[in-house]
Amino acid sequence: MTDAPRVSETEASTTQASTGEPLVVLSDVNKHFGDLHVLRDINLSVARGEVVVVLGPSGSGKSTLCRTINRLETFESGSITIDGQPLPEEGPALARLRSDVGMVFQSFNLFAHKTILQNVTLGPMKVRKTNKAEAEARAMELLKRVGVEQQAQKYPAQLSGGQQQRVAIARSLAMNPKVMLFDEPTSALDPEMINEVLDVMAGLAKEGMTMIVVTHEMGFARRAADRVVFMADGQILEQKKPEDFFTNPESDRAKDFLSKIL
Ligand code: ADP
Ligand code: MG
Repeated sequence: MTDAPRVSETEASTTQASTGEPLVVLSDVNKHFGDLHVLRDINLSVARGEVVVVLGPSGSGKSTLCRTINRLETFESGSITIDGQPLPEEGPALARLRSDVGMVFQSFNLFAHKTILQNVTLGPMKVRKTNKAEAEARAMELLKRVGVEQQAQKYPAQLSGGQQQRVAIARSLAMNPKVMLFDEPTSALDPEMINEVLDVMAGLAKEGMTMIVVTHEMGFARRAADRVVFMADGQILEQKKPEDFFTNPESDRAKDFLSKIL
């Protein structure tokens, strides 16, 4: 396939290892939806360059956690900092935060009436005030990196789901985010397209991108995660290296979860 994602050896060799310095820090975060206590005393620290995979049954609060980190949701108590800065409430500081924290959802949310290239250049031109030529050059580089540069002049509906999700990743990367959040990025894809998206994500992980990934793809968790965070009922029940989590889950909820999916 000429259209496959790839990561060049030179890119991979510039890998920055995790420095241990915290980039995303949640301390005692609590959130309710009405009576539902959806995030309970969440403490999570993600180091620069670290890849954290969040696992847990449906309804455990994984999406809410991602949305709270990107301030798409508010929270009632506790604190969240990105690169040492508390999450801003609103205004230009919030727009800046959103561009520092890339997010890729299950649904690709590309602008249907814009070309693939325009989808990727829009954010940098509007938010970062990058000029068109520069934004386009960078967009083509990113589209190449995720393996869809041939599709630059097409519209989203002309692409497969896997290609659209790779464009969505390129679009996030165009903002030069400090951290990327992925919320079940392959759940809406036909099975044969899942790996082309996971391969792009694994490449990013290898290059040192800080990532928080909600997924049901256990193979990806095993190969790409530095740490697995297991959530149930709004709580983090376990945080471990993948091999420890998969071979030696401690909580009953985690054992139950693994028995159903493995
Ligand atoms: P997960 O992503 O782990 O499946 P979610 O974060 O989507 O879990 O949801 C956690 C809980 O919060 C679920 O019980 C869900 O029904 C509820 N919930 C999510 N979003 C909202 C909302 N906007 N309003 C009310 N309840 C919500
Ligand atoms: Mg979810």
